[in-house]
Amino acid sequence: MAEGDAELADLYRDVLLDYYRSRAHKGKLEPHDVRGHGVSPICGDEIEITATRQGDRLDKLRFDGHGCVISQASSAMMAEAVEGKSVPEVLKLVEAFGDFMVRRGPMDQMPAELEETKALEGVRKFPARVKCAMLSWNVLRLGLQQGAAEYQELGDREGT
Ligand code: ZN
Repeated sequence: MAEGDAELADLYRDVLLDYYRSRAHKGKLEPHDVRGHGVSPICGDEIEITATRQGDRLDKLRFDGHGCVISQASSAMMAEAVEGKSVPEVLKLVEAFGDFMVRRGPMDQMPAELEETKALEGVRKFPARVKCAMLSWNVLRLGLQQGAAEYQELGDREGT
């Protein structure tokens, strides 16, 4: 690894840890219009999302959960990116994040709202950890589509 790359990795680690420690969107909204619960058994990540809507707009989003730095930081980034957006806009952001993480799309095509999630680029090399990053986004997508959702990230192999 070149020296510059190592510095970049350090920088991204700091960004992830800042989001991991942030309390800004932690908690549970009562009452709420949208709820989603998801687990990623491979890693032990668990997330519960509650959100309120104002008409077509996702007004507030909070999440509660535990798990690895990647799953929790990704949830905090998501909350920051989607609050105040219309539901179709939110679903587009979820899709764009999946393009970036799972389908390894180019960073320069990321919507401005997802700028901070570029810190997760290094995670893309590790399929099991991509599931950690995607968990809350998949839970939110299902929650918006169904109102209430239970979601489980499945392993790539049986028994994992
Ligand atoms: Zn994880």
